[in-house]
Parts: sequence; structure tokens; C-alpha cells
Amino acid sequence: MKIAVFPGSFDPITLGHLDIIARGSQLFDKVIVAIGHNHQKKYMFSLEQRMDFIKKACAEFSNVEIDFYEGLTLEYCKNKGSDYILRGLRNPVDFEFEKAIAHANRKVSGIETVFLLTSIETSFISSTIVRDIMINKGDFSSMVPDSVQLV
Ligand code: ADP
Repeated sequence: MKIAVFPGSFDPITLGHLDIIARGSQLFDKVIVAIGHNHQKKYMFSLEQRMDFIKKACAEFSNVEIDFYEGLTLEYCKNKGSDYILRGLRNPVDFEFEKAIAHANRKVSGIETVFLLTSIETSFISSTIVRDIMINKGDFSSMVPDSVQLV
């Protein structure tokens, strides 16, 4: 069974993330959307809220699971029996950043990182932009799934 872990902060999940999840779910038997949680980091949404947004947004995908983890993504993958990390690429900056991590992960554990290029319609979306719009009380509805709401 080919299991991929799609790790990220998802603060909050966007339509860009959802596009990668939808396409990844066609390629793998199972995709685990895993929120990498770091106690030291400040998030706009709590872990529970982020999990809830993703769960509702992914309800239609029968082979997508939602989870969270702390520590190394590699260790998490090992625990889940996953040999693949799924990541999205928006631009050359993403590529340069991801390249080093993917090489390191493969060197250390043999895990393969599979990259999907973002869809044209969602390539400009980032959680950072969505948060900025939220903070400034703008309209963010075209960038996130309906499940993402300010509380
Ligand atoms: P991280 O903090 O690990 O960057 P993110 O939640 O920002 O976590 O992103 C998780 C993954 O989703 C990354 O692989 C990132 O490149 C990808 N991603 C982010 N935004 C988009 C988008 N608009 N389209 C496709 N993939 C995206």
C-alpha cells in the first residue's frame, strides 16, 4: 500500500493545499494530511481548529486521513509506514527550499519526496496571505475551503 504524508502547518488550509490533496489522493492509496505542530511557534489557529478545517474540507476523499505530529517528519512517516512525502511547489523559492530538505530526507532514511506543481488558479495562494487578509478584515473566501471560518 502506497501511503503519502502531506505535512504542513495548514494555518489555515487553503485551496492550494486542497488541490494538492485532491490530486495526491488519486496517486496514492492513502494520503495522510499531517499538521506538524511546534509548541514554540505561534499559530493563528489552534491545532484543533486547523484539524477541524481540514477534516471538513476533505470529507469527500475516502482515502485521506487527518493527523498531527511533533518532531521530525521522517520519524512520523516511519511510524505510519509511509515511504513518501507529498509537497506542493508554487515557485522557484519553494523549489530551492524543498530541494535541500528532500535530499536530506532521502539521504537519511530513503524516503522519497513527491512534488506536485500547483494548479495555475491556486499558485499565488499562501496561508500567510490568507492570514494577512483575515487580520485586516478583508474577503478571503475565494482562497480557502468553506470550512475555514474566523471564530
Ligand atoms: P509549511 O509550513 O511546511 O510550508 P504550509 O502549510 O505552508 O506548510 O504548506 C504545506 C505544503 O503545501 C507545502 O508543500 C507547500 O509548498 C504546499 N502549498 C502551500 N500553498 C500552496 C498552494 N497555493 N498550492 C499548492 N501547494 C501549496
